[in-house]
Amino acid sequence: MGRPDVQVVWFKRDLRVRDHAALAAAVNTGAPLLPLYVFEPSLLAHPHVSTRHSELVLDALTDLRENLAHLGAPLVIRTGEVVDVLHALHAQVGVAAVHSHEEFGVLATWNRDRDVAAWCRKLGIAYREHRQTGTMRGLKSRNTWNKQRLALFSQPLHPIPAALRGTSVAPGPMPTLNDLGLEPETMQYRQRGGETAGRETMFSFLTERVPGYERNLSSPNTGWSGCSRLSVHLALGTVSAREIHARAQRRHGEPGVARKSLQAFGERLAWRDHFAQKLEDAPFIEERSLHPAFDDLRPRQPNQAALDAFIRGATGYPMVDAVLRSLAATGWTTFRMRSMITSFASYDLWLPWQETGRVLARWFTDYEPGIHWPQIQMQSGVTGMNALRIYDPVKQQLDHDAQGTFVRRWVPELRDVPLELLATPWLTAPEQRHGYPDPIVDHTAAAAQAKRRISLVRERVRGDGSTAAVLEKHGSRRPPPARRRR
Ligand SMILES: Cc1cc2nc3c(=O)[nH]c(=O)nc-3n(C[C@H](O)[C@H](O)[C@H](O)COP(=O)(O)OP(=O)(O)OC[C@H]3O[C@@H](n4cnc5c(N)ncnc54)[C@H](O)[C@@H]3O)c2cc1C
Repeated sequence: MGRPDVQVVWFKRDLRVRDHAALAAAVNTGAPLLPLYVFEPSLLAHPHVSTRHSELVLDALTDLRENLAHLGAPLVIRTGEVVDVLHALHAQVGVAAVHSHEEFGVLATWNRDRDVAAWCRKLGIAYREHRQTGTMRGLKSRNTWNKQRLALFSQPLHPIPAALRGTSVAPGPMPTLNDLGLEPETMQYRQRGGETAGRETMFSFLTERVPGYERNLSSPNTGWSGCSRLSVHLALGTVSAREIHARAQRRHGEPGVARKSLQAFGERLAWRDHFAQKLEDAPFIEERSLHPAFDDLRPRQPNQAALDAFIRGATGYPMVDAVLRSLAATGWTTFRMRSMITSFASYDLWLPWQETGRVLARWFTDYEPGIHWPQIQMQSGVTGMNALRIYDPVKQQLDHDAQGTFVRRWVPELRDVPLELLATPWLTAPEQRHGYPDPIVDHTAAAAQAKRRISLVRERVRGDGSTAAVLEKHGSRRPPPARRRR
């Protein structure tokens, strides 16, 4: 074997060929290319991961494999821990460099990336991580964050490479769920994954669905098609955030376009990076409260009966139950509804946010750790800095499902309850509710008690101020230096 020259492009949550910085960099070397995806048993067994996530990955890999084969270098798919897979490929063809995108994920993927970096270092293989989002590794100051983000977003998109020169490595079969040791999941509806579906969603949103976006965002009735529905594609990188941003900007300049709606959408794209930056700066928040004073607020062991009622969608509050059941069946709901169910779990049921966060991560087809954990903490009142927001499930139903369409669809036991009592079915006779339970808690009393408990802690820690100040004050909780420097 001569001097190794193969460039591995390790695809992770960037399953596309357009605007792919790692692919572009590998192609620029002129050396043979080995595009690789690895199903990792340790991540498939991770408590945040469920079959629906792997099904979306399989959708995306089907597209990616076809696109890469068309360009000349079919996608190589393997199952195993990444370092083992790379080691075997290196022995087979001689790897000169591994290219991937920076991943802002959970501690498990962070540690995995660190292991890959160490393996590369040991064997003298270059390890290049490229940027694809506005979240920054080792950010020194939040003051320059927006400027740095926009600088990345204003750079030209990477075009699809004209042609790729592959290697002799056999691509390997596309695994089935069974091969991955996963049980198929029964869902009533699952959004389709992959670059083709992602682009269709992006174009349909930006050209047809965007007018009224800001008004349609909250209700599960209007949000289903009124939201962009790009979260699944952003989470798996089947469409690049930079491309979505660039196309939205271009639309903004066109005459007669819904500017207010596009602006609201652009703000949310920025929030995505803003929240992921929180996880990057404080990676422990996947497990511990941002503010340590709130760590012992709730018992670590959940009240099992309350957790079971939450998972079954049997809390006795129709809007909460309808959202929970719809999530289990479809994997998606609006921001407002996610906030309401998290608030209900954390304040009304006083469940540990870590437990609820894991249940929801497995349900959300768009699970994105960088948004998920900061939002779960915010909606649970444990950051020590955000305004306390406890959602009233009856009000949310009246505001966002006034005609009862959504609730009647997902809670059919309430079919005989008249509309005027649909948000408070406990006021009807039990035989009208066909087994639907009484409320598991009294919302007003539970909310008042939660407020009291949280206020007590807040008073103790008043004056801690910004995230930076909290992290500064509780210095031992800062991310380990290795994560920051790399
Ligand atoms: C408790 C909780 C957990 C959440 N977990 C996730 C998650 O795991 N994955 C996820 O993608 N979103 C999460 N969100 C944020 C939000 O609810 C979803 O991004 C949104 O509902 C996805 O639908 P969409 O793509 O149609 O969004 P749109 O409203 O069309 O927004 C466009 C994109 O902007 C980003 N975005 C939207 N709202 C927010 C927000 N509040 N904060 C940060 N970024 C935002 C997302 O990337 C989204 O795809 C969570 C919200 C809460 C309250």
